Amino acid sequence: MRTAIAVGISSVPTWTSFVRTAPGLGIGSAGRLTVGVGALGSDVVVASAARRPPEALPGDASIVTTMATPANRTTNCLRTAVRVPALTIAEMKYVVCVPDGASDEPLDELGGRTPLEVAAMPVLRSLAARGEVGRAATIPAGMPPGSDVGNLSILGYDPARYHTGRAPIEAAALGIELAPDQVAYRCNLSRVDDDVMVDFAGGHPTSDVAAKAIAALDAELGNDAISFHPGVEYRHILVVPDAWADAECTPPHDLTGKPAVWPTGAAAPELRRLMDASRAIVSDIVPGANQIWLWGQGRSVQLPAFDAVHGVRAALCSAVDLVRGLGVLAGIEVVDVEGMSAGYDTDYGAQRDACLRSLADGVDLFLVHVEASDEAGHAGDVGEKVASLERWDELILGPLVEGLDALGAWRLLLLPDHPTPTALRTHTSDPVPYLLVDSQVDGPGGTYTEAATASSPAVVAHGLMRKLLAQV
Ligand SMILES: [Zn+2]
Repeated sequence: MRTAIAVGISSVPTWTSFVRTAPGLGIGSAGRLTVGVGALGSDVVVASAARRPPEALPGDASIVTTMATPANRTTNCLRTAVRVPALTIAEMKYVVCVPDGASDEPLDELGGRTPLEVAAMPVLRSLAARGEVGRAATIPAGMPPGSDVGNLSILGYDPARYHTGRAPIEAAALGIELAPDQVAYRCNLSRVDDDVMVDFAGGHPTSDVAAKAIAALDAELGNDAISFHPGVEYRHILVVPDAWADAECTPPHDLTGKPAVWPTGAAAPELRRLMDASRAIVSDIVPGANQIWLWGQGRSVQLPAFDAVHGVRAALCSAVDLVRGLGVLAGIEVVDVEGMSAGYDTDYGAQRDACLRSLADGVDLFLVHVEASDEAGHAGDVGEKVASLERWDELILGPLVEGLDALGAWRLLLLPDHPTPTALRTHTSDPVPYLLVDSQVDGPGGTYTEAATASSPAVVAHGLMRKLLAQV
């Protein structure tokens, strides 16, 4: 059992500014009331210096007494005592589930239905029946429908304000810190033959082989202002001066089998010079690649720390650099999970257990991101997409809900970062279905499919984090 603490005065105006001071302990405020939280299972008595009791109290709070004011004190005196059931504030756990690219469009192979409609997902259906189902716009108008933009939204950050490009997020995942006068580019090892993008992934080299190529590129083409940094397989980072940011670059995976669309804009000659010069170096070292492809550039990303914004301690697990990089940039703990991968074979149960373990250890909010459904969409593999959703239900959601119930009260938000329609084999910007469930309070209920939510007005996805945390 924890001890109740912290009674005092606050200038913070509303209950929405709930501040955590340590795992399991916290301070919240309403008007000039400040409340200490931490006594699991017992009430916390708090006090206010307000002349009148606060008008707005959290759901279960009640005023128990009003004290006399010492004549010689004008501040820091306790006038009103309020009883707050500590459990409802201190012990709530939050889970965000992100099946990457899960939403889809009707498919002929499925008789005009979508993978979400066909997949056997009894746990998801029962959660939807007792929760709130709607539609969320994860990709702001005019922005590219990438996992970087979509997951930024899910984490509660407005991409229109905070997104500078894909590469700086991946750079953060690799531990590369960008100076304000630097720009990061994604540097693919790729294969371009006769001006056609043959393989954006350069034959999927091992990270070891790729690292040799990146080291050679850095030795031959790098200097004080230009540096190459090794990443994973075909995915690497180039850091260049700020002035190189001005270019229009095409993602190489959008060019597969098509004529190469070379960079345009002010920095294009510099980029093209490096891409051309890389041919002699890359083709000697990486059998499936013959040059670098530069794209996804951006300046350093400055995200306000997640715990400072929301007052909760958060962690996440994902095998995808972009999601891990967002965690690093937001000050969210990035948990490594053995058996976790970005492919169909990720260990769903291990990702679920990592979530439950972190929550039991004092983390308030955990985000589970699984890439498999997006991979299936890109591969055009309907069977794998349905299978990935069914694994979510059986291996994550079912046991997760049992584990959460054992921990106490919880809320869960589930949504993909963007659709990856299997027939299109790429991302779209359409809004996605979302599900919000509270273990203690039933919602209106609904059905978690694209069709069932099609007529709902799309909410702004970066507002859902505050809704999950009951801060709106
Ligand atoms: Zn994605």
